[in-house]
Amino acid sequence: MKPAQFQLLQPTTRAEALAVLAEQPDETVILAGGQSLVPLMNMRFVTAERILDLNRVSGLGGVEVRGDRLVVGAMTRHREAELSPVVLDACPLLAHAERHVGYVSIRNRGTVGGTIAHADTVAQVPCVAVALDARIVLESVRGRRELAAGDFFVGNLMNAREPDEAVTEVHFPVRPVGSLFGFAEFARKVGDFPLVTAAVRLEQGAGLSRSARIAVGGAGPTPVRLAECESALEGRELTGALAEEVGRLAAESVSPADSPFVSTDYRRNLVRVVVRRALEQALDCGEELR
Ligand SMILES: Cc1cc2nc3c(=O)[nH]c(=O)nc-3n(C[C@H](O)[C@H](O)[C@H](O)COP(=O)(O)OP(=O)(O)OC[C@H]3O[C@@H](n4cnc5c(N)ncnc54)[C@H](O)[C@@H]3O)c2cc1C
Repeated sequence: MKPAQFQLLQPTTRAEALAVLAEQPDETVILAGGQSLVPLMNMRFVTAERILDLNRVSGLGGVEVRGDRLVVGAMTRHREAELSPVVLDACPLLAHAERHVGYVSIRNRGTVGGTIAHADTVAQVPCVAVALDARIVLESVRGRRELAAGDFFVGNLMNAREPDEAVTEVHFPVRPVGSLFGFAEFARKVGDFPLVTAAVRLEQGAGLSRSARIAVGGAGPTPVRLAECESALEGRELTGALAEEVGRLAAESVSPADSPFVSTDYRRNLVRVVVRRALEQALDCGEELR
């Protein structure tokens, strides 16, 4: 199928883009990499009178470290976030998760801001954003505000953005020295959307986990932090047995909805496995640091 007719608006500056959005916010849909939006438009699940294309707007892409934050411009392509030495150094969990997003051709076009705004509960980058308590920067002609990732995602494919706002940056905390990280997912085949994702970061001191962050995606309408699992890790040395124990605890902590294709029990079991695997990766990461 072909999309319904629309007006294509292609501003070149951030101020122009926000002004275009402010003119008719409810009738305007933002186009970033188009990897989710264009298929939805072709199937006419999304119709819009006006498409605001961000691809010609200068200054919306790129990555840089500002203080203790890795600032990722909304139009940064997945592939850049995956391969950038700046990202690998400041937030390796993001770089590792990006490797799992679709295929290279998808990652060449799809953007970090796009996947955040799309807010798919199984998407890899939102899971990392929730795990790390990333900040989502929203801008409109009214000004700029920041939301914690946990407040930005409000349901599957739903976010807290006002219609006249655009996501302009995503801020991830810079990795504390010596911290361990891991990302794991289960997908039916490489490049497919996963059924479940898990992202983990552990801050270490004297061989013990001083503080832990664990989030899973795909086990509910939004990615969620697992507080009980985090507490179970804190003050303890990460071992294979502990990874197994925390995986089991994770499965008990989530209540995924039943669906005709993926039962609640099956998805819970996947949560157990991906959390364990993410922690095992963190363990390997610790070996590399020794
Ligand atoms: C075959 C295939 C496999 C894929 N596999 C995966 C996968 O494994 N994991 C995954 O996460 N994704 C996957 N994707 C989707 C892809 O990663 C997209 O890049 C991503 O979901 C959205 O990014 P985008 O830049 O393409 O956004 P678009 O498709 O352009 O936009 C997506 C939505 O976000 C809104 N939006 C975009 N940018 C902004 C902004 N700056 N401010 C406000 N709203 C905005 C749009 O209006 C739209 O509603 C896959 C896609 C395909 C076709």
